[in-house]
Amino acid sequence: MMAKHKIVLLFPAAVVEQPFLYHLVKDYNLFVNIIRANINPRKEGRLVMELAGEQEDYDAGINFLESRGVTVMPFEQQVKWNEDRCTQCGACTVICPTDALKMIRPEMIVEFDESKCIVCEHCFKACPARAIVAHY
Ligand code: SF4
Ligand code: SF4
Repeated sequence: MMAKHKIVLLFPAAVVEQPFLYHLVKDYNLFVNIIRANINPRKEGRLVMELAGEQEDYDAGINFLESRGVTVMPFEQQVKWNEDRCTQCGACTVICPTDALKMIRPEMIVEFDESKCIVCEHCFKACPARAIVAHY
């Protein structure tokens, strides 16, 4: 059985230089598709990616990452749009690079499509109502 998931990896500063992706591909036969990678000022790494392979290999690969101090989180929990707080101002839809946040016309209501989000974080700062929050 195949497994394919969008996940987010958090690397503590101490392990950020290690060749994890190489091991996932080479030792666990997994396919890696990097969506976004960045390193914060504290030198912690964050990688948004798609990981795919046989279920057994997938589970073993995740165990390998966790055993090396990498935190693995489901992508879905990363960015939350709080519809109740949203004032439909549209500011986020202008800067969202993937149309994950989109203004639906002519109704002029905002919609969030989580599957398109690449966690670029632009909308966090743009939203005056703080309706979009990060979960990490
Ligand atoms: S984090 Fe980036 S891609 Fe995701 S909704 Fe916000 S602006 Fe769009
Ligand atoms: S910027 Fe915030 S308040 Fe404005 S449309 Fe986007 S989520 Fe809603």
